[in-house]
Amino acid sequence: MTAAYGNRIGGASLSAGTTFDSVNPAHPTEVVGTFPDSDASAVGDAVAAAAEAQRRWAEVPVPARGDLIARAADVIAARKGELARLVATEAGKILVEAGGDVQEAVDMGRFVAGQSRGPLGTTVPSELGRKMAYTTRAPIGVVGMITPWNFPVAIPSWKVFPALLAGNGIVLKPSEHAPLCAERFAECLEEAGLPAGLLNVVHGHGDPGAAIATHPGVGAVSFTGSVPTGRKVASAAMAVGPKVVSLELGGKNAMVVLADADLDLALDGALFGAFGTAGQRCTSTSRLVVHEAVADELVSRIAERAAALRLGDPTDPATDVGPVIDRWAGERIVAMVDRAVAEGAELVLGGSAVDVDGCEGGTFVRPTVLRAEREVSIARTEVFGPVLTVLTVSSLDEAVDVVNEVEYGLSAAVYTRDVNEALRAVDAFDTGIVYVNAPTIGAEIPLPFGGTKHTGNGFREAGARGIEQFSQVKAVYVDYSGRLQKAQIDTNPLP
Ligand code: NDP
Repeated sequence: MTAAYGNRIGGASLSAGTTFDSVNPAHPTEVVGTFPDSDASAVGDAVAAAAEAQRRWAEVPVPARGDLIARAADVIAARKGELARLVATEAGKILVEAGGDVQEAVDMGRFVAGQSRGPLGTTVPSELGRKMAYTTRAPIGVVGMITPWNFPVAIPSWKVFPALLAGNGIVLKPSEHAPLCAERFAECLEEAGLPAGLLNVVHGHGDPGAAIATHPGVGAVSFTGSVPTGRKVASAAMAVGPKVVSLELGGKNAMVVLADADLDLALDGALFGAFGTAGQRCTSTSRLVVHEAVADELVSRIAERAAALRLGDPTDPATDVGPVIDRWAGERIVAMVDRAVAEGAELVLGGSAVDVDGCEGGTFVRPTVLRAEREVSIARTEVFGPVLTVLTVSSLDEAVDVVNEVEYGLSAAVYTRDVNEALRAVDAFDTGIVYVNAPTIGAEIPLPFGGTKHTGNGFREAGARGIEQFSQVKAVYVDYSGRLQKAQIDTNPLP
């Protein structure tokens, strides 16, 4: 019998009437777990529990909060194999990538724990005598988090660990496609000793996310997902009052290959960037912007290698590409390819769904390569599937125009042996992340993660800015002169 899970509120597991099933995308008849399809009242309960627990947590010294986070990272590391298998089973990532997802949470926990003994602000000399001026960081209170399914352990960890270090209570609403991953992540923190009520997990379809955005007790909302949902979350949150809303949204990431590039390296990078995680990463390589001198050779080598990728069950170590998340995603991806062909794109490889033996009902999309002009809609719209659109250019300047002409600005890559061209591209790409001689995927957690334009609203996750995102800066002045001193008025305070 399938296990039923409740919402995790105040340390208890609470059911909420109607339920939904989380299924294995490779075998959709296999139910991974049954979860409450919650409404706004569960969010209200979770916010109340988080607020109560947060008051005590804010009293805990920051290094002690860091120690707990380090223990949580250790628990996740010890359970890595089991969690990776769950990520593969619930989100459809192949095992090796699922292990990377879990490892990212371990790395994030260890990094954030290290920050607990680092500076939280700056000290500046006061213009007045016997007066201190410095900044520190205060918790926001209760932070709401809404996460997608494609990094079901890593993305909650990017948000939860820095928010905890900053002294907040949390209400997390994971994607309906990966609720058990969020459950197990929260369980690891509980195993490490996290006080009850600090991390509350509310399951359901869109409703609990919308309720988090508008709840007056939620001081900040951290959202990762698609642009349309992000817009809804931000406008709903703003409608009830000024709130901190951080958005990490989609991408239309490009890999530029110049004429002098190491083509073997570019080939490996394009395959991993475009077809890893079946193209369902926010940083997936969706466009290959290649110099005309090497385009034909590179495209034919990519097509040959992509055609040989093995589609299959993500838990089978022999599988290269797993399923897309569900049937609707598969239909959407194939329809985008059909439209591209109708608009004049050349289909080089793939372009259709395919049945895979032993994975009845799973939706698998063949690795797809298109050659297109810049104007074709698929060259500008996020696909979120294993589709690589090749665009040919005749110079770095033209490549930069192509990279920058989309509404997204998450990740871009350039392959060249010429350091001048590489650094010119680094300067010119309007993206939050740039890779040189590496594909558009592969961020490491000590550096900030996020993008420009419609990819986000200026926040960055991970890195030092992770804590900034989940705390409020406070400017502090301490006057120990024993007399009234007036800034900007006492212009020459002599002893
Ligand atoms: P969605 O936008 O569909 O969903 C994201 C989350 O929002 C889910 O938990 C979803 O719940 C929830 N949600 C849905 N409707 C609402 C609503 N009205 N109010 C509040 N919350 C709501 O994204 P996906 O899960 O499909 O993830 C894929 C997208 O995420 C891609 O566009 C990808 O590029 C982006 N992404 C961005 C990253 C970044 O850091 N920039 C990283 C990873 C992914 P439910 O699932 O229950 O509908």
